[in-house]
Amino acid sequence: MYELSDSIISINGLGPKAQEKLNAIGIYNLEHLLFHLPHRYQNKTKIIKLNQAQVGDEILVELTIDRIEEVPTRQRQLLCYLSDNDNRTLLLRFFHFNQYQKQNLTRGETIQCFGEMKIGRDGLEMHHPEYRLISKGQTNLLEKTLSPIYPLTANIHQAQLKKWIDIALETLQKSDLIDNFENLSKNSMPTLKQALNTLHHPQINENIDQIADFKHISQQRLIIEELCAHQLSLLKLKNERKHKISNIFELKTQLSDQLLNDLGFKLTNAQRRSIDEINTDISSPHPMLRLLQGDVGSGKTIVAVFACLQAVENSFQAAIMAPTEILAAQHLQGFSNYLAPLGIDVAFLTGSQNTSQRAEQLNKIKSGQAQVIIGTHALFQEAVTFNKLGLVVIDEQHKFGVHQRLSLAQKAHNTPHQLVMTATPIPRSLTMSAYADLDSSIIDELPPGRKPVKTIAISADRKNEVIKKIKQVCNDNNQVYWVCTLIEESEVLRAESAINTHHYLQENLPNLSVVLIHGKMNKDEKSEIMRQFSANKIDVLVATTVIEVGVNVPNASLMVIENSERLGLAQLHQLRGRVGRGADASICILMYQTPLSANATERLDILRQTNDGFAIAQKDLELRGPGEILGTQQTGIADMKIANIVRDGYLMNQVRYYSEHFLQLDENRQQSLITRWITDDKTQYANT
Ligand code: ADP
Ligand code: MG
Repeated sequence: MYELSDSIISINGLGPKAQEKLNAIGIYNLEHLLFHLPHRYQNKTKIIKLNQAQVGDEILVELTIDRIEEVPTRQRQLLCYLSDNDNRTLLLRFFHFNQYQKQNLTRGETIQCFGEMKIGRDGLEMHHPEYRLISKGQTNLLEKTLSPIYPLTANIHQAQLKKWIDIALETLQKSDLIDNFENLSKNSMPTLKQALNTLHHPQINENIDQIADFKHISQQRLIIEELCAHQLSLLKLKNERKHKISNIFELKTQLSDQLLNDLGFKLTNAQRRSIDEINTDISSPHPMLRLLQGDVGSGKTIVAVFACLQAVENSFQAAIMAPTEILAAQHLQGFSNYLAPLGIDVAFLTGSQNTSQRAEQLNKIKSGQAQVIIGTHALFQEAVTFNKLGLVVIDEQHKFGVHQRLSLAQKAHNTPHQLVMTATPIPRSLTMSAYADLDSSIIDELPPGRKPVKTIAISADRKNEVIKKIKQVCNDNNQVYWVCTLIEESEVLRAESAINTHHYLQENLPNLSVVLIHGKMNKDEKSEIMRQFSANKIDVLVATTVIEVGVNVPNASLMVIENSERLGLAQLHQLRGRVGRGADASICILMYQTPLSANATERLDILRQTNDGFAIAQKDLELRGPGEILGTQQTGIADMKIANIVRDGYLMNQVRYYSEHFLQLDENRQQSLITRWITDDKTQYANT
């Protein structure tokens, strides 16, 4: 009678109001109803004897009515006394009832009740049970399978929703809903029909605890399919990219060899592997889009420099984009150190340059005199015309929207090669799901000789001990960061609290040079302060989180983070990574306000226990969830129907395997899989 593709409005008794409510949770047709799964079950498969009833259980009983009584207190109640053949009793309490109900509950009738067993003053009770008067011919409550309880949306009743979903399930039995896995999984998984039937109406012997844990094979079947749908949509984007044309860089060695000779250190194996992977990409005719992941201090910059050298040797321009002015300035310095001795011309472009500086840089970029261009998002502006852009390096991707990636890519004739560097590692399950359209290189090795940063958590009332430690560190001619992390509403308030801290530290450290840097300062002021700090002219740098990313001053060996309980794990790890870059043993002091929440305690504990950015990223994902980590540019994986990337990350290898198969199928099959799970097309946001 129905088709699964029918709109839900075609269901008898389902009106426009209910339709609107269901649409709001992504249910438009009967097929969508099938994927609205129960969040728990009731067992009405057998009648329980009163002597076997456990308080707290939801059970079905069948008893005889002895008498009823209306209690005329302020809060009216209807009491119905029941008993079994052995004179064991059960009291039903109704706080809301009507006269019709009262009249029906008459002495001597056989009644079935389903509800939670409670204990009252005089023995066992049930409040507002679901009931049927069996001796009056009402339908039996006994069921053959467990009964589903569905998550509800406003003003839709459980019974209604159950009825509609049952209609969808009936329709399913007769329909030929495409089963995407039937041939693929070679009987290692239930069919789609079996899985849906099991989850809506499990047999009595089904492992309910397993279902509650989302580890049942029928759930895994659906979870894998949903994750595949998301993965497939990203892999299709990747496929499209592999069909686009980019510039082939012929791999050259002159500049690279020269740089290697001048470096003063040897590349780690992981760095060399990453450079090789990048070289393979850029020497192919298709645009590279590669994620370069590595822990703080693992040496991502030099890897990017080698990519730039290939661009330059092939007469292309390379653009490097940083999320903040400070970081752009740091990169200018860092990259120029490597590039200037090789005779490479570097341009610099940020939003705060004056008109003539800007015009000069724009000219250099346009004429092609500038071979490497470093800047902030000012590089996106329309006025910027590149002469021959061949490579884009984006640093600290978390701060950029993917749309910005796109608009810079459009500034070149052929799609340029792109390298995206992340500030800290991304958990593997997220890389495999949210970033499946990118290739990935991982630097999983730190340069030799790095000493792990010792991390201590101290409550804020022990500030004087911290002051003592600062004196000691500066006495040894090392330097200190003091980060103020008061999360104020505005940058103005943040600056104010940093100003107060600055005064306090100046008073308590009269013999040291304590300097403040914050986001409200102008760019020249900020870069002058950073220059002085790099040159060891400042002992203690008091900062708002402007120094969060990228800053590299090896002589700094103590990091103090105020109100550390307010920051996320990744951010704390990133801040901590500002020390431990030189020869000296470094310390990170996490100051916190008491009392600490359980979550904050856990975060600080994790930081004390490990320096491994990959482990920290995984914990961060577990504590905050993918939505928080990915930010606003959600790719859909943060709000899936059944799957949950944190809980189900262990299935990603299977997901990857099946997705590759789907990629070989025809377009219609792929599209039907994607639209089943992704109702509104979020895939566009992932377009790069
Ligand atoms: P991040 O990955 O955090 O961006 P950087 O690229 O800023 O790390 O590198 C951190 C520091 O490590 C820099 O001072 C850099 O010169 C140094 N470095 C990078 N690679 C090596 C290496 N293979 N051996 C020794 N030092 C290295
Ligand atoms: Mg860096």
